[in-house]
Amino acid sequence: MSKKPHEKRAELFKKSAVQIFLSKFLSGEIERLEPEYDPKIGYHYPLLESILDESSNAETFLNELHTAGILERELYDKIIYCPKCGSANISMRYCCPFCRSFNIEKSSLMEHIRCGYIGMEKDFKKGDKLVCPRCGEELVKPDVDYRKAGVWCMCNDCRKSFDIPVPTHFCRECHLTFMFEDADYKDVYAYRLTEEARKEASLDWVFVAPIIRLLKSKGLKVESPGVLKGRSGAEHVFNIVAFKGETRREVSVIDIATTREDEVSEQPVIAMFAKIYDVTPDKSYLIAVPKMNEKGKKMAVSYNIILIEAKSQKQAIKALEESFNSGTSKNQ
Ligand SMILES: [Zn+2]
Ligand SMILES: [Zn+2]
Ligand SMILES: [Zn+2]
Repeated sequence: MSKKPHEKRAELFKKSAVQIFLSKFLSGEIERLEPEYDPKIGYHYPLLESILDESSNAETFLNELHTAGILERELYDKIIYCPKCGSANISMRYCCPFCRSFNIEKSSLMEHIRCGYIGMEKDFKKGDKLVCPRCGEELVKPDVDYRKAGVWCMCNDCRKSFDIPVPTHFCRECHLTFMFEDADYKDVYAYRLTEEARKEASLDWVFVAPIIRLLKSKGLKVESPGVLKGRSGAEHVFNIVAFKGETRREVSVIDIATTREDEVSEQPVIAMFAKIYDVTPDKSYLIAVPKMNEKGKKMAVSYNIILIEAKSQKQAIKALEESFNSGTSKNQ
């Protein structure tokens, strides 16, 4: 269990449920996973539940991803569950502190500022006017003649009065009445993908891993990241380097450029050109997610870089496969 966080994440990225779930964030389908409220079961995550199999627990799954630094969470709500039956169908009751009855009546207290009399609001009402029951003066202006002076409760069962009621909970399912100290009181979170995981995941398993699988299935030898020595003697790193054939090896290099903006800047094209100018591979691919800006497109053509624009992993794989199958360089 002494794995480094990024190792733990890399391990989780291999799980298909994690991949499907995270692709919802990476594709932009969701920005934040929010719980939905169901009166019977409380908060849950239907979107995640549709991905997980029956035996998996959504909460455990989310906790694991949170602990590994894949998801960050923020408190969304607090929820009370019945300690007996576990239902979330709970009502709140304000009870008499003396006999615990919930049959109480709440009234507002009012103060006549000039004479200092404090009493129930209803005792001040004379028709549609407010009149002080002690001195008989009519009260007109709020905060000048009179003001609210808090609340006062009266128990309809034991007839005692009090100002602060005791909150209790009532389970609408099993009819248990319970106090806060017995309640199952839990945090409910909303989740977002961490920046780190977004970077690692989009490059690692969303793009790199399936591309490696594709190239290997075509009988190529693959290195990722791949390091090639250039004519200058300098070593250059590509996301993926693939070798074809035994005697005369055909070398393909693949770089992946992702952005959180609308389009990738020309910078990765320039960076790739500097490398391939020195390394002179047979084919150079740059996968831009989701797309390349106009300047970058033009540069890719003149530098003989095969540009693949892909909004998703699926598109990238498909375009790359087509390009490999046709054996010809093509843009797009
Ligand atoms: Zn219950
Ligand atoms: Zn009472
Ligand atoms: Zn008065």
